Amino acid sequence: MPDRAIWLTAVVAALALSACGGPSATAPTPSTAASAASASPAATTGACPTQLTPSQTEGPYFKAGSPARTSLIESGMTGTRLLLRGRVLTLACAPVAGATLDFWQADAGGAYDNSGYRLRGHQLTDSAGRYFLETIVPGEYPGRTEHIHVKVQAPGKTVLTTQLYFPGVARNQQDSIFDAHLLLTVQDTAGGKAASFDFVTSG
Ligand code: FE
Repeated sequence: MPDRAIWLTAVVAALALSACGGPSATAPTPSTAASAASASPAATTGACPTQLTPSQTEGPYFKAGSPARTSLIESGMTGTRLLLRGRVLTLACAPVAGATLDFWQADAGGAYDNSGYRLRGHQLTDSAGRYFLETIVPGEYPGRTEHIHVKVQAPGKTVLTTQLYFPGVARNQQDSIFDAHLLLTVQDTAGGKAASFDFVTSG
């Protein structure tokens, strides 16, 4: 079994233990999407959201036109593997299907690819509002703690630009725009880390 398959198997097992009826990490079928939507409206907490996801600055490194993909892992890429998944919800707890999520981040050394699209990619949520991203834990760079940038857009709605953070990182407290409302829920797995976050949009 290739290393990547072993890692995914371990991550899926970890998520199955913790998701309390939430979505699996595999691509959903219509039947599993329907059951997940009815069993757990919010993948991260199992409860409906009480506030919108805060917006944050775009920063200097956004680049339009990222490729459509759910894995940002490329051959030779170093860093701690990270499987991130969750949902896009409305404040009324309805899953948002077909929402666009456009992720971009630094590599493990804290550098962005500003000439190409390394560690940049967009995807659409499925019929139960779910997304799934394979990537690495980003490195810190001057003035910033570990973070992943994302733009979330429900169909026909305005774009939510924000950033996601990692719990337990010492630099969080020195980062002037760090917001604890944007902390991922993170678990260690055999091959890296598994994280979840539900976005709540006004759409
Ligand atoms: Fe950044």
